[in-house]
Amino acid sequence: MNYLGALLTSLVASAAWAAPYDGPLFDMHLHYNVEAFDAHPTADVFARLQRSGVRAAVANSRPNEGTRSLAGARDEAGATGVTVVPFVRLYRNRADYTGWFADDSIYRMVLDELARGTPAGPYRGIGEFHLYDSTNADGPVARRPMQLAEQRGLLVLAHVDDDAVDRLMAHAPGARLVWAHTGIGGAPVPRVKALLDRYPQLMGELSYRPGLTEGGRLSAEWKALLMEYPGRFAIGSDTWVMPRWSAYETLMRDAREWLGDLPPDVARRIGWANAAGWFGLAEPR
Ligand SMILES: [Zn+2]
Repeated sequence: MNYLGALLTSLVASAAWAAPYDGPLFDMHLHYNVEAFDAHPTADVFARLQRSGVRAAVANSRPNEGTRSLAGARDEAGATGVTVVPFVRLYRNRADYTGWFADDSIYRMVLDELARGTPAGPYRGIGEFHLYDSTNADGPVARRPMQLAEQRGLLVLAHVDDDAVDRLMAHAPGARLVWAHTGIGGAPVPRVKALLDRYPQLMGELSYRPGLTEGGRLSAEWKALLMEYPGRFAIGSDTWVMPRWSAYETLMRDAREWLGDLPPDVARRIGWANAAGWFGLAEPR
């Protein structure tokens, strides 16, 4: 085989690797926590999203000032074509991560914050919150945000295990719950599927999900699940620590790689359209 033949053969072989998804992205899990403010001012945040093709993001932060500053950067949002979808976070500081469900002042803060709203409009959801021990899902302060979300049509973003999904949904069966990481502990796929079947209002966000990819490509098990529930998943960055900000564009490029293993319409739903639809966003310009 001559050089050209070899080149063509290798091109054909590489075509077996699907092209990355190149449509708009919706980042369903973005934090703008206090420690990111100096290193990544809002202009830098919007520039990173723009370079990544992220056209909308759920913003939530510890404390909520971060979300309000992203929501208030109207010129930057307009110039980069990024829509900020604000969520109220339950944390004023790190101690709140493990104590919020037993602290009534957190619930009052959530009510105050919802009443205040943001420069980008009303809050659209509550979270992300964490429950490291699922039995805390039955505490009164965990119960009430679920019921509040149900009453007000807010989404909830919760970092919990599969047992806590059952507990939270029992408090408010009509609430729309986005399961952060779709179980960061790696709940087995048949269990994830059973929960999706049981709760039509349950959705999954896919950052950090164990088993989702193998060598950067979508695993067969997850491809089958995403194909069976194409309307129930979204992608996210989870910028919970500073290295996630440095890696933001890489994280989004990685998501585009495995999304490319799906049929184009399913990739677009999971990459953009599902989350956009949950908040009634228009198609990006
Ligand atoms: Zn998070």
